Amino acid sequence: MHSASRRRQAEALLASGMTLSACARLCGVARSTLRTWRDGGLTPRASECPRCADVPLHPEVYAALLGYYLGDGCLSQARRCWTLRITCDATYPAIITEVRRLVELTHPSAATHLVPAPGCVVVQKAWTHWTCVLPQHGPGPKHGRPIVLEDWQRVIVEAHPAPFLRGLFHSDGSRVHNRVHRLVAGELRHYVYPRWQFSNRSADIRELCCWALDLVDVPWRRSNRHHISVSTRAGVARLDGLIGLKQ
Ligand SMILES: [Zn+2]
Repeated sequence: MHSASRRRQAEALLASGMTLSACARLCGVARSTLRTWRDGGLTPRASECPRCADVPLHPEVYAALLGYYLGDGCLSQARRCWTLRITCDATYPAIITEVRRLVELTHPSAATHLVPAPGCVVVQKAWTHWTCVLPQHGPGPKHGRPIVLEDWQRVIVEAHPAPFLRGLFHSDGSRVHNRVHRLVAGELRHYVYPRWQFSNRSADIRELCCWALDLVDVPWRRSNRHHISVSTRAGVARLDGLIGLKQ
């Protein structure tokens, strides 16, 4: 078994045009192994964990998956394996499709299951390495323990706040309409203002949401104990453009 660093070194040499034979001599790796690595591309093999292999995760895929996990995801342990479950509202099929795609791109091998439940669909997949890529797992509900991103996660979200916000708002958020009645020149007028709202019982996750909104210059406010609101016309329009509507 060769180390991840040995594989990266060999892949870099092959990508630069070095022949299999020359690379085999230099790296001490069999030509057949090098051919497998080369033909498999520079991405990790399906069974590998990007964190353990020290291979970069796809940043936009990961940022969105992290958002969905912090919103409506959980990890549970069964023997030596972890099961990731992300609960999706059954009324938004495009979100279910996206969550499934994100899970499969992060861990391509093994089956992803869609498990129906009352009013929702649970996207579910087992993997021994889920806690490597989602290290916020811990005992008890997320709002009962600190949720702190590791440095490598913060780097990804800082570079890609929009997919992270999409994951958060498309799981624990909603786009609602505020109806306002005003008397204008003696006449009662009705106005409707769209507003995004994020709701989570974890103060740390709400803070992460506010941090990401600051990164994209979307103004927000705390509308009550568990809610963050984006309600200015420009802020709602910008967030619409960044994360899209729930569908
Ligand atoms: Zn791992």
